[in-house]
Amino acid sequence: MGTPTDSVTMEKIVALCKRRGFIFQSSEIYGGLASTYDYGHYGVLLKSNVKAEWWRAVVQERDDVVALDAAILMHPRTWEASGHLEGFTDPLVQCLGKCKRRWREDHLREGVEAAGGNLSAELRCPECDGELSEPRNFNLMFETHMGPIQDEGSRVFLRPETAQGIFVNFKNVLQFARKKPPFGIAQVGKSFRNEITPGNFIFRTREFEQMEIEFFVPPAEAEQWHQHWMAERMRWYTDLGIRPDHLTLRAHGADELSHYSSGTSDIEYLFPMGWSELEGIANRGDFDLTQHAEFSHQKLDYVDPQSGDRYVPHVIEPSAGADRGTLAFMVDAYDEEEVEGRERVLLRLHPRLAPVKAAVLPLVNKDGQPEKARAIYEELRRRMTTEFDTGGSIGKRYRRQDEIGTPWGVTIDHQTLEDDTVTLRDRDSLEQTRIAADQIVGELERRLGADWRSPKLD
Ligand code: ATP
Repeated sequence: MGTPTDSVTMEKIVALCKRRGFIFQSSEIYGGLASTYDYGHYGVLLKSNVKAEWWRAVVQERDDVVALDAAILMHPRTWEASGHLEGFTDPLVQCLGKCKRRWREDHLREGVEAAGGNLSAELRCPECDGELSEPRNFNLMFETHMGPIQDEGSRVFLRPETAQGIFVNFKNVLQFARKKPPFGIAQVGKSFRNEITPGNFIFRTREFEQMEIEFFVPPAEAEQWHQHWMAERMRWYTDLGIRPDHLTLRAHGADELSHYSSGTSDIEYLFPMGWSELEGIANRGDFDLTQHAEFSHQKLDYVDPQSGDRYVPHVIEPSAGADRGTLAFMVDAYDEEEVEGRERVLLRLHPRLAPVKAAVLPLVNKDGQPEKARAIYEELRRRMTTEFDTGGSIGKRYRRQDEIGTPWGVTIDHQTLEDDTVTLRDRDSLEQTRIAADQIVGELERRLGADWRSPKLD
């Protein structure tokens, strides 16, 4: 694969996403809803490939992790036990000057620190330099009511993380999945946080998807499994094409740790706005199971049938964002280059992540070429997401496919009708090779890798 340039900006990614139908502003016809996005066709395919590769790596190719899909609405006691009702807050400050904007105080401090400024000086509004209010703790959970009566007893929350759905099912899985620590439970699903300052496109939104594993281990093995998961998760990103020098592991300082964590490292990615968290890998200790045991009056410990040892497992949690990951894969794949005097924009996505694997293109839209191309397309699409495109010049069609990251173009021309060969064009090298039409499916499957199939949209 080629090396993408560093010409990418968030504006270019947003523009490409809109131009090619990956991601749109939500409710656009009403002027949009702030920081909320809808995924169009290619966006759905890309994000579902990201999730499918995650499922493959953490469940399919291991024998110690099982899947779960818990409800978004949970018993309200869950959030008392987890500490979210009390502690899931961000420090909110408001500008008392002209603009009245709200800010996260911790983000403002980080900004001052990053710029080498004086931390003991008074913070001012970054927008209008106005004075700021005293910070107040703002709870990030979205509240709603269940049933027709809106009172304290009907209050429920949209989950702010998928993790708690896993903890409350620990006992079920232990019983029915025939697993014993060390083992994990994996889940993908929507989470909601009433973020004070969402932004940077799909990096920080109020509704987003998480891919989380809670990995339950004997307490003495926690550190070793923390190390294991940090290495595994870093490898997952680089195996799928993220450049290693755009990724780093950063251990949290003591003042940054969440209320539940005895050690967290973030995988950070070099986004256009700078190094930012892509995934957190926390050692949650026995905090969650102990809390849920206390609040639910259920036993949530593990008894080793051989030794009779009873203990509350410790938990290692690799917690990734599906939308944030999708953004990182797009940013890393974005490239612009000049080919024969013309600029081309392309996404050098890993073929497994590419929304469309192959485009079948008749060179001219006549002389039996479209019919032959259609037959090849129908063969290919049974195995992988494929497009059939007869519209416009071949150059224009290639440009379209390059921008959505299609790794392979299959061109049908007059020679195809004579000797049944087609041209296979490689997105990255632009190399064109002639190959027998009946070998195309096998060749593309070989390039995707023998093990590429998994339960996914294509
Ligand atoms: P941040 O510091 O960026 O607010 P966090 O440390 O609160 O994130 P976690 O609670 O560790 O995030 O959540 C795990 C992962 O979920 C994050 O690494 C990120 O990929 C994703 N995530 C969290 N909040 C959001 C959000 N508002 N929008 C999109 N993805 C999110």
